Amino acid sequence: MYKSAGCGEVGLDQVGQRVTLAGWVNRRRNHGRLVFIDLRDRSGVVQVVFNPELAPEPHAVAEQVRPEWVIKVEGAVSERPPEAQNPDIPSGSVEVVAGEAQVLNPSRTPPFYVNEESDAEEPLRLRYRYLDLRRPRMQEILTLRHRVVKHIRDFLDQRGFLEIETPILLKSTPEGARDFLVPSRLQRGNFYALPQSPQQLKQLLMVAGVERYFQIARCFRDEDLRADRQPEFTQLDLEMSFVDEKDVLDLTEELYTTMVRAVAPEKKLTSPFPRLAYDDVVESYGTDKPDLRFGMKIGDVTDLALKTDFRVFHQVVKGGGRVRGFSVAGRGEMSNRELRDLEGLARRHGARGLSHVRMGPNRALEELTEEDLQFAQGLRMTPEVAAEMARRLAGGPGDLFLLLAGLDREINPPLSALRNEMGDQLGLADPDALAFAFVQDFPLFEWHEESGRWESSHHPFTSPAEEFVDLVYSGNLDATSRPGPGGVDMGGIKSRAYDLVCNGSELASGSIRVHRRDLQERIFQVLGYTAEDVQERFSHLLEAFEFGAPPHGGIAPGIDRLVAILAGVPSIRDVIAFPKTQSGSDLLFGAPSPVGEAQLQELGLGLVR
Ligand code: ASP
Repeated sequence: MYKSAGCGEVGLDQVGQRVTLAGWVNRRRNHGRLVFIDLRDRSGVVQVVFNPELAPEPHAVAEQVRPEWVIKVEGAVSERPPEAQNPDIPSGSVEVVAGEAQVLNPSRTPPFYVNEESDAEEPLRLRYRYLDLRRPRMQEILTLRHRVVKHIRDFLDQRGFLEIETPILLKSTPEGARDFLVPSRLQRGNFYALPQSPQQLKQLLMVAGVERYFQIARCFRDEDLRADRQPEFTQLDLEMSFVDEKDVLDLTEELYTTMVRAVAPEKKLTSPFPRLAYDDVVESYGTDKPDLRFGMKIGDVTDLALKTDFRVFHQVVKGGGRVRGFSVAGRGEMSNRELRDLEGLARRHGARGLSHVRMGPNRALEELTEEDLQFAQGLRMTPEVAAEMARRLAGGPGDLFLLLAGLDREINPPLSALRNEMGDQLGLADPDALAFAFVQDFPLFEWHEESGRWESSHHPFTSPAEEFVDLVYSGNLDATSRPGPGGVDMGGIKSRAYDLVCNGSELASGSIRVHRRDLQERIFQVLGYTAEDVQERFSHLLEAFEFGAPPHGGIAPGIDRLVAILAGVPSIRDVIAFPKTQSGSDLLFGAPSPVGEAQLQELGLGLVR
């Protein structure tokens, strides 16, 4: 027998008993002739004391061990003298007096400390991930992730969902990213694609009469790994038949609230989750994934901007733009240097400039004078106009006002970035709060400047909102006609898609789907897919829709980001056991890697160098 208890489980109630423990040497200290070893396993740490008078052989073993050696110890549990008790760990009141000890396996000196929260560089941590994962903090995160997934499984099981696996070797599934391809050996020249999500499969399961499906699904997207993305990531994929938006959102909300209470009860949760319209959210926060832990809402001051002589404002409005901004409480005395930094941030997010008004703290809005105001270069405002702007932006004396001018799509990203930055600087976002909200009524299409066309904002299987179905069927829609005056405004067509957002991240998206062949075909046509394309890529789904497809909808919450938020870590790499780097490498295995000529030949492939 290796173990009769876990190291972290040994406590006062075992005093006087003999235990057998096995684990890793966390730390070794010599105190005169006594040797103390903190022995660690997944359950925690316990102190083992080796006394050469009482047991010379185990003492000799203890003399030789180093951190991360694996040892087995047998001994009696004894209470520590009061002054030697460690209240910080559960087993801190006791120690094990070693009667026998054995080295099970020595260890090389680890490349970083496993026994403390060291700030080892991430590449080193990933190269030796098995050592990194040994650390208690990482074990905690692995445990948290397990609990999240277990909660999901139990919750959905109780509500009649079936967990069903779907293929990994499949065919291109459009979720807007590039596919990973796998060459077929048996059918040379042909390729599988790894699914970007099980979207079509879960819809087919609805046609199959499953009614309630879920899967902890791996999704593969060959994207440039900007920000915190992974080429493979995990979603809770779920789909339900005979539902509308409310059914899916209610279920999702209950899943998240019960989960947070079960796995992270220290988090503050706002419930019920607000259900907000996309247009309102973007108007007020400049983004469809706002951090709702703080206010600082954005307002429209275009009419007031036109009461100034500032040329930029007048030009922008002539060009169809607006002037929008927000107030920052108590920052009316921000330095020019800080303002220049903010302007730099705004420019990095696509703004052409940043205007501001600094309002002195000394007089009430009604009594404001020129002296109380400081403006960005070139801008001037009468005290009356400034007071009106302050009221509109829920600010007042002593505050800073940040203003951006341009087309909405140009100024939304910098407005949102500035708002987040000010929220950070003022410490407004409570790290223990989870501000969940659903965003609904997304547009069906969005304009992509790179491809010069309208594309699905969610994916092509999303149903248009009821009141737009006729327009989608019979309107003169052209995916290549730029947004702007003339033609049908494709951006105005609403869909039945929704997102769950939390603290500035999108945690889930989903929609009520199209379930009729003619409407689905029409949407493919509007998006500019050729008949051959549709035949080749979607004929299976369209055909299935001819055999009594029920109305259905679903959602797919990302698991990685959720666990990262619950664990309070910034990167999803910290919550994935074996993640890839920003450039898509696995540093432990050294993947991706070249393959031999013979393997390529077998697949009928040659490399173009
Ligand atoms: N398949 C979608 C996605 O991965 C989610 C959904 O519509 O259920 O974003």
